[in-house]
Amino acid sequence: MESKKPIAYSLIVFAFVTLLTFFIFSLEVRNSRLTDTEVIIPLLLLPLSAFLITFIGLKIYNSKLVVTQEKEKYEKMVKENISPIIILHEGRVKVVNQAATEVLGISRNKLKGKNFLEFIDNEDEKKVRESFSEALSRGSSDKISANVVRKTGERREILLKSSRVDFKDYGVLISFMDLTERNKMQKRLTEINKLSRKLTLSLDKEEICEETINIIKNTINYDRILISLFDKNKKKLVNKKSHNYPKNQNNMERMRSRKVYNLIYQNKEPFYASQQKNQKYLNNSEKAKFIVPLMAENKFLGTISISETDREKIPQDSRELLEALSAQVSISLHNAELITRLDKRNEMKDLIISIINQDLRKPLQSISSHSKNIRKSKTLKEAKRESNKIKSSTREMEELIDNMMTLLKLENESIEYEKIDLTKVIEDSINQLSDNLKNYEVKNKVEGSYLISGNRIIKQAFINLIENAQKYSQLVKKIEIGIKNDENGYIVYVKDWGPGIPDEKKENIFTKFSRNQKKENNSGLGLSIVKRTVDLHNGEVWVEDNPEGGSIFKIKLPKYQNKLNK
Ligand code: ADP
Repeated sequence: MESKKPIAYSLIVFAFVTLLTFFIFSLEVRNSRLTDTEVIIPLLLLPLSAFLITFIGLKIYNSKLVVTQEKEKYEKMVKENISPIIILHEGRVKVVNQAATEVLGISRNKLKGKNFLEFIDNEDEKKVRESFSEALSRGSSDKISANVVRKTGERREILLKSSRVDFKDYGVLISFMDLTERNKMQKRLTEINKLSRKLTLSLDKEEICEETINIIKNTINYDRILISLFDKNKKKLVNKKSHNYPKNQNNMERMRSRKVYNLIYQNKEPFYASQQKNQKYLNNSEKAKFIVPLMAENKFLGTISISETDREKIPQDSRELLEALSAQVSISLHNAELITRLDKRNEMKDLIISIINQDLRKPLQSISSHSKNIRKSKTLKEAKRESNKIKSSTREMEELIDNMMTLLKLENESIEYEKIDLTKVIEDSINQLSDNLKNYEVKNKVEGSYLISGNRIIKQAFINLIENAQKYSQLVKKIEIGIKNDENGYIVYVKDWGPGIPDEKKENIFTKFSRNQKKENNSGLGLSIVKRTVDLHNGEVWVEDNPEGGSIFKIKLPKYQNKLNK
């Protein structure tokens, strides 16, 4: 509707009425029905009153029109606003926008005409009412916080401000802000900060992963979680902790996962697969998946993944929280790594000092004393005996140095992995020891093919175990070697009928320099080398009793897998 200009319209009406009256009256005068004076007065009065009536009418009409237009503009503004706004008239909802209906959890039609205070928590009603009166008397109120209670019982915390609207059938305009999400986020962040401070205190990777899963489960509220840690070359998964995470079901899915990991590794950015966009990266049972890299000092340590059956369930705020957490977790993991490395270095330093100081000194002393004896010896036979002792001490020194070098190598080098068949390695180890095993009954029960992803140094572990079995079972000269297919690995065992290992020694027999019986030719490094080698293969080593007397040493190694992630 356009506003009409009263003066212009009134003048047109005036002119028209003047002409019309003039025309009619001139006819009347011509017919001599009226005298001139009788004509003059209506001729003046009629157009004048027509002018006045039109003018006043239009004035009134226009002022009403302006009010309606203003009101429409106002309503449009409210409706298009993205913040929640409601206009009330005598406490009842007159105008409401989409954002407000979302906060109150009710449709616009159902909301219209309702008393707004119905949605406010009883305890806050007074406060809100006071804010209305303040707005009506002063124009606007201060901001107050109040709780909205939805029909479902759900509560939302809002920050509310009321202002007066000066249209006849309006009263108060309420604009508000939903603080629920922000508060929730703030609480979660505080919680996560508290927990991650705890995380940084831990120096055990395993513990860090477990704690992280707990945080994600209880604070960020996700249930399908996977933490994968990779080795230095990003090739090998060295640690995997998961909670309800969907397993890759087929090769296709595994290939896809591998692609995703490579993508994350290359971009060093989180990866978010939701149904619309990255459907090809999702497992059958997933609708959304979010993977954050764990990075420290620009190094890729691994990933944290969460998976959801509902696409809507990994919103931006959750993703941000997870990213914040992953930063903390990365630092903790990195620290744990550094400290472990430092500990190992110190251990190694102590070990070398003690080898040089004690273990090398002993054979040296014996060499020196035997060579003195040679000089003193009267017969050739005596001299030969002494020289044999020197030979044996020299061999002991050699063995010590060899072992020390192997350990140092294992400690410092990052080793490459390849496809290795355990059957072959075990065969080679037995062959290599054939001289020592001459008088022994060696039963090798390993047949077929047992593939692991490993390095050739694993042979040293078998050699040391078989050598020990030979060394420590001088009475019953029998050794059995076999392999068992376990659910998640192969267990190689070396069985002997020797003295066995007492229970209290079983735990620490694999740590450096743990010795059961002091004997010559014992470096005490053999089992440490076994342990370290097996550790490098993510395996386990332990000892059990042979029920027939003696011991069974067992090494468990993960099976070969052609994939980056299992
Ligand atoms: P070393 O044999 O050089 O002393 P190891 O680390 O190989 O060092 O072994 C540590 C100790 O464990 C040995 O001193 C020995 O007492 C005990 N041990 C190892 N293997 C056996 C075995 N097969 N039977 C009995 N005792 C063993």
